Amino acid sequence: MPELTLSRNDHRQTSMVCMYCGATATTKQEWRVVNHKPVKGGGGGGTDLVAPSGDDPISAGIGLLMLPFVLWELLKGIVSAVGALVGFVTKPRGTPAPTPKPARPVDPPTTLVAVTTCDRHRRFRDRFVWTGFAMGLVLVALWVWAIVVTRRVMGTENTDLAVTLVMTAILATILLPIALSLWYTLAGPVIVDRVTENEVVLDRVRQAYFDATGA
Ligand SMILES: [Zn+2]
Repeated sequence: MPELTLSRNDHRQTSMVCMYCGATATTKQEWRVVNHKPVKGGGGGGTDLVAPSGDDPISAGIGLLMLPFVLWELLKGIVSAVGALVGFVTKPRGTPAPTPKPARPVDPPTTLVAVTTCDRHRRFRDRFVWTGFAMGLVLVALWVWAIVVTRRVMGTENTDLAVTLVMTAILATILLPIALSLWYTLAGPVIVDRVTENEVVLDRVRQAYFDATGA
């Protein structure tokens, strides 16, 4: 997905072109992102992820759906932390590392970022919210159905449908959230991808925007 790089010291007005389809924009959504100093020697740099104005309900929703994976990562993290701690306790103590000096405030402290959209794409984000909502309903319905059928056929020979339903429900619970997050990653709304020393990079700005602005 093409990226739009905004220079921090460039105060030109954003072109009023829809970032999704290249049509004349009617809405401009502006917010400020906090400028971070680049991490020293952070190869490639700019790994600071900044969510637009800190309210990204979809990312939060996807985060919730991906909770089993997050918990698994957390478990792995805890295990390796315990391993490191055991290693630390059994090893002789070295001299403590000197505390790093606090970084000076960055100038300017924030950068104004704008996302321009036409009427049609003004609520672009909503389709992901509704899809996630519908997906949740489908999963709940599927599980209820699977449980009802399983309880009904319990103790009988006729368990094929129940087994199929439970397997489908398990697979859907794993695959649907992955599909949604993939869709969101590949075709989601414009977001601030990263903030570097001199610029703010917007990701997922559609090619039509660049065609229309000649950027
Ligand atoms: Zn548009």
